[in-house]
Amino acid sequence: MKILKFGGSSLANAKLFLLVSNIILKKKEEMQIAVVLSAPKKITNYLIDAIEKSIINNQFQHEIHEIQQIFYLLIKELFDKNNTFPYKIIEQKIQNELNHITRMLKAISVLQQCPDKIKAIIISKGEILSIIIMEGIFKMLKYPTVIINPQKEIITNDDYLNATVNIKKTKNNIQALTIQKQSIILMPGFIASNQKGEIVVLGRDGSDYSAAILSVCLNACSCEIWTDVNGVYSYDPRIIHSAQQLKSLSYSEATILSYLGAKVLHPKTIFPLEKNNINCIIKNTFDQYASGTIISHQSNDTNNIKGIAELNDFSLIYIQIKKNENIKQTIHSLQNISQKLNSNIFSFVELTENYELHICIKKKFLEKICQKIKKIHCVKTNKNNFFIKKIINNISIISIVGNIQLLQKKIVPKLYKIFENEKKQCIYNIFYSSQQSLSVLLKKIEKKNIYIKKIDKLHNFIFNHYKKYIEIFLIGIGGIGKTLLQQIAQQKKILQKKNIFIKLCSIANSKKSVMNNEGINLNHYKLEINKSTEKFNFDQLKQFIIENNCSHPILVDCTSSQFISEKYIECINYGMHIVTANKKANTSNYSYYLNIRKETQKNKKHFFYETNVGAGLPIIENFKNLLLSGDKLIQFKGILSGSLSFIFGKLEENIKFSEATMQAMHAGLTEPDPREDLSGIDVARKLLILAREAGYHLELKDIKIESILPNEYYLKSSNVNNFISNLSKIDKFFQEKIYKIQKKGKVLRYIGLIDVNGKCSVNIMEVNTNDPLYSVKNGENALAFYTQYYQPIPLVLRGYGAGNNVTAAGVFSDILRTLS
Ligand code: ADP
Ligand code: ASP
Ligand code: MG
Repeated sequence: MKILKFGGSSLANAKLFLLVSNIILKKKEEMQIAVVLSAPKKITNYLIDAIEKSIINNQFQHEIHEIQQIFYLLIKELFDKNNTFPYKIIEQKIQNELNHITRMLKAISVLQQCPDKIKAIIISKGEILSIIIMEGIFKMLKYPTVIINPQKEIITNDDYLNATVNIKKTKNNIQALTIQKQSIILMPGFIASNQKGEIVVLGRDGSDYSAAILSVCLNACSCEIWTDVNGVYSYDPRIIHSAQQLKSLSYSEATILSYLGAKVLHPKTIFPLEKNNINCIIKNTFDQYASGTIISHQSNDTNNIKGIAELNDFSLIYIQIKKNENIKQTIHSLQNISQKLNSNIFSFVELTENYELHICIKKKFLEKICQKIKKIHCVKTNKNNFFIKKIINNISIISIVGNIQLLQKKIVPKLYKIFENEKKQCIYNIFYSSQQSLSVLLKKIEKKNIYIKKIDKLHNFIFNHYKKYIEIFLIGIGGIGKTLLQQIAQQKKILQKKNIFIKLCSIANSKKSVMNNEGINLNHYKLEINKSTEKFNFDQLKQFIIENNCSHPILVDCTSSQFISEKYIECINYGMHIVTANKKANTSNYSYYLNIRKETQKNKKHFFYETNVGAGLPIIENFKNLLLSGDKLIQFKGILSGSLSFIFGKLEENIKFSEATMQAMHAGLTEPDPREDLSGIDVARKLLILAREAGYHLELKDIKIESILPNEYYLKSSNVNNFISNLSKIDKFFQEKIYKIQKKGKVLRYIGLIDVNGKCSVNIMEVNTNDPLYSVKNGENALAFYTQYYQPIPLVLRGYGAGNNVTAAGVFSDILRTLS
């Protein structure tokens, strides 16, 4: 016998009811099955809301309407309306239950209160309705079913809303039932009976507990809890995406995790299973073949720490006691009271060294416990010597579960660092509840995104301290952007082996953008962006980063847009690193240049732009390091344009200027607008960037540029296409020029210079065979730094200085450098 329990998330609509019935039938082929069902998703919440509203103002109609809609849609989609059976019968049964609920709600609104006894009846209806539907499905499919009525068979104590089962009596009842071997056993979860035969419920998420009870009573070999995640994780995987699935857990670990707030299991579930040696397996209805989490006597998981859990809405009471008071007995009775009130909810009573009593209790029981405290009388004096000094509400309890001893020394200071606020007042108490857990009492952090960020930090520290995550927001998917995405796709797995996880969160070009927190598929991004109707905007980007709690977001700018470059400071301020192939930010006015650096420092972010000069060649970082180590630039001379190096090389082979330019464009060597290269402005920008690194406070207008083409030529062409179609007109001019120079045994080179006074210029120069720049062509760059350390022979860096592959690789390596 196997017990399968399906939670509300597995019963959210007709498709899921059918999926669940399929799983049941498949499992039935192996052995007899008993099925426990929760209410369909949201139903119990609607019922609770309806009760609250009927008490306040009789306005519960919305909730009843919603419930009605959900069930009518279910039967409409599941059953054939023209057949009396099961459609009409089920419709009638549902209507009867809804009428019953409405009658009770009306009575409550008259009373203006809802006794627990009635509340239990109302909130149990969701499970009853689930069973009506599932029974209908099996009847329709002609499978025999038998229904166990928990209100008759499952016997509990007297708590209407949070009852505890008397297993012995329940087992006697259930074993006395005659159940046909072929039948599928169905039972509504959550519901039970008290000694008087009245309906009680087992607490929120109580169907897990029902399943455990039924497992014991039917001597099942295992109890499977089917839900909407693959198993128990180190934290709620819907909140922390890097949470790790636990393949196995011991009974005690699972109990502690759920007791301390991990929502995936009701805290009372494990105890009966453990006592009867029944395995509990958490399975995913949406991914049946995933392995799940096995809870048994031992955990094979090698992780010492299993998970982080949290509880909210607690109060901490500080009580002062007279020193000579003998309070052992009193503490004991307070512990009993608080345990009884809290039932299976975390609570503690502890005495501090300076005779202060601390009681931590769920806020809703505060009033009751305070009344009890006020009634405590000292045995000797018959006086109440318990003085409530203060009460702090809104306490959250964060717990770390697992073999805590090993990591305790490291974790406690980290907890302080993460959770303390500026006034160092956040943590009220570090409470060791057992060897298997460590709990911290905190003032509740109201802002959810800040709280999640802190939990994420803690989680990373414990589970992923060796893992590094990168979230990329790419703007510009031209030659460099596209190549970058290919390179990332190619390296993704290799980097994962080195514990670097890259997620492409958004891509954008000037027309469209896509954002996806799950990560955009690197192989299908074109499809996604084509489908998109959204235009990129920075407010959305900011919102996305906050909402999704990005831990290492990087703005990757592969455009040459001035507008984007002006947004860097804004991006840095909302937590992004900047990696850019775009030179505009570094070459706009000097104050912006300085501000970016100030903001990156202040926000502890990186701003990397290695590809601004020499594409993928390691120039800027090396040059910066040289200067940091005390060297000084004396002079600089270099070929800084890959496209012009290519074009001038081609001219020597007697290729026409227009043809050479087209070839450079097609090879991805030019800027998107080739006029930027040919006008010399692009080289000037590179020179300015180097000069600024060397400490010169220059502006772009200070760079003297000798243009390659006559000035009027640029003016005539209003756009790129126009410019290109006119290009052949200049071929003759260059042919003649090259012819003359070749006769002298020289070549033309476009050279950037920084002289000893910091004066910068870009010049067309005639170079003879002795000059090292003579052989630099075909897209190569060569940069000669004459410095205090490197003279008279300069430090020379040489290699391809343009092209999508090398530039994208340079951007990629900047992205990875942000991890340092
Ligand atoms: P069901 O409807 O199946 O009873 P629940 O919503 O009660 O499902 O429980 C499953 C949910 O528990 C998951 O969707 C997940 O968001 C949440 N959850 C919280 N903590 C954990 C955890 N440590 N491991 C797995 N899931 C968790
Ligand atoms: N339906 C109940 C709840 O939502 C019980 C359960 O789902 O286990 O709490
Ligand atoms: Mg649940």
